[in-house]
Amino acid sequence: MSTEAPPFEVLPKQTYVPCKTGYLWGETRHKPFVVWVVDGDRVKVWDPTGGQRMGGFRWIARRNLHESGTTAHGKERRTGFRLRCGPPTSKDQELCGSCFRWVDPEEMAVSAWTLGHSTCKPCKIEIDERYRGL
Ligand SMILES: [Zn+2]
Repeated sequence: MSTEAPPFEVLPKQTYVPCKTGYLWGETRHKPFVVWVVDGDRVKVWDPTGGQRMGGFRWIARRNLHESGTTAHGKERRTGFRLRCGPPTSKDQELCGSCFRWVDPEEMAVSAWTLGHSTCKPCKIEIDERYRGL
């Protein structure tokens, strides 16, 4: 048994994104997710794009989750997932499916009924600008 304290706490409703974005994007294991249940060394996570409409649950190892995208030595992580946001600070906050942040209702540009399909104002602006040039 190790007496070392865990580096940080993994909590339900936290969101995580892959440390190396863009790498093998589209594969399930490289998509962002929301923490659902923490069970010792295993974490049940939910990916809004993981299944048909309802998203998909899967279990991943706790050790794959990191507090930041860089190591204690300042090196960029290439594997695993880094903490993005959360847990939400109020029960009214909604998950933006684009940036994976919990956002207050007034900061939402598009509000969807299903979790993970809403879009916050900064993301909406970015999406609009991306399509303007086409
Ligand atoms: Zn957003």
